[in-house]
Amino acid sequence: MHKTVLVPIDIAHLREGKATIDIALANAGEDSSIILLNVIEDIPKWAAAQLPRGTLDKSKQAAYQELNAIAQSFSVPIEVDIRMGHTYKVILDVAEEKKADLIVIASHRPGFQDYYLGSTAAKVVRHANCSVHVVR
Ligand code: ADP
Repeated sequence: MHKTVLVPIDIAHLREGKATIDIALANAGEDSSIILLNVIEDIPKWAAAQLPRGTLDKSKQAAYQELNAIAQSFSVPIEVDIRMGHTYKVILDVAEEKKADLIVIASHRPGFQDYYLGSTAAKVVRHANCSVHVVR
């Protein structure tokens, strides 16, 4: 069983996200922690300056609420973490920070079955220092 399982979730594809949580739970023990992570991609500073004040904070809050509702629908405690940055780098950084021993990630967005792995999944598989379970 794995002690700390990190589950990166793309808010735009929550159905696949839920499937990855099921796999995470199947690989976790009673004392394991499961962390749902969403990364909000950085936008250039000049573009951010054009946005109404508070837009990024609102996005962060909305993402937290979405993931928290999913986390609460499971009968075990599940942590939610929302970060900003470059998606695959943040996933790898959070995996190190939380000492994750497993990352469970979907292979690609729906409808892109021609691709063996999506770009985020491919980089995570290639660079992670822990095991990665790819859900297809
Ligand atoms: P594609 O290139 O087809 O969109 P990705 O590799 O980006 O495929 O996505 C595969 C998986 O990577 C997603 O299902 C999710 O697990 C993870 N992922 C993608 N984007 C994000 C994000 N912004 N935050 C957290 N995880 C993400």
